[in-house]
Amino acid sequence: MSDATPEPRSVLITGGNRGIGRSIAEEFLRRGDKVSVTSRSGQGGPEGALTVAADVTDGDSLDAAIRTAEEAHGPIDVLVANAGVTDDQLLLRMSDDSFETVLDTNLTGSFRTIKRVIKSMMRKKKGRIVLISSVVGLYGSPGQVNYAASKSGLIGIARAITRELGSRGITANVVAPGYIDTEMTQSLSEDLQASYRKAIPAGRFADPEEVARVVAFVASDDAAYISGAVIPVDGGLGMGH
Ligand code: NDP
Repeated sequence: MSDATPEPRSVLITGGNRGIGRSIAEEFLRRGDKVSVTSRSGQGGPEGALTVAADVTDGDSLDAAIRTAEEAHGPIDVLVANAGVTDDQLLLRMSDDSFETVLDTNLTGSFRTIKRVIKSMMRKKKGRIVLISSVVGLYGSPGQVNYAASKSGLIGIARAITRELGSRGITANVVAPGYIDTEMTQSLSEDLQASYRKAIPAGRFADPEEVARVVAFVASDDAAYISGAVIPVDGGLGMGH
């Protein structure tokens, strides 16, 4: 562990305009890094970050966004693949379209983004990839076959990258939040929120900042020997899964 002030890094967070992604962006800014965030509108990132427009289901828009981020801040040193959606429905009612859209955003969207930043990480022999999964990817959840499949798929991505590129100074880890207080969970009914709270050993939902600080640690030099790991931030909800 070094006490020297680290050089500011070029950090890219997908879906950094609100919720967990925005908190993650604020945490990296607080630590002195150069932060770019994507949003679909190209607006709404935190002050001090560069906001670029990208839809993770559209490779061309990702190319343009990452080019702009790299021109401003240099090649991406840290990627946080955070953009994600839910489209809940019980299995019998879930359409192929719903399944494919959630997978295309959460899983393929992460793959597309990683692919566009990995070359420069390989050249530098250094890089940090953090994939935002969910306790649901490990634990399952009724009505979330599409979401659970997409989130557990991220673990396969992180572990395959770890085996492929671990010797090149690149780490790939998964952070698996439980129930975090954002628009995604505020849209749940009061009854459902209360039943979730009951199931969580910590007895509460978390603030997005509690996820952000873990992501920043996993992306730090101190975490150089952690790769292919799944780090829960769930108040104990998913223990052992
Ligand atoms: P929000 O709904 O608050 O934010 C979602 C973010 O993803 C927005 O920035 C949104 O951008 C972006 N996004 C969605 N679709 C796309 C797309 N096609 N292309 C680009 N960006 C897109 O969600 P949270 O902050 O709660 O969730 C962030 C991540 O954390 C997600 O991956 C989610 O699955 C995960 N998570 C959340 C939990 C929670 O309890 N909240 C628990 C576990 C995991 P835009 O504003 O442009 O739509």
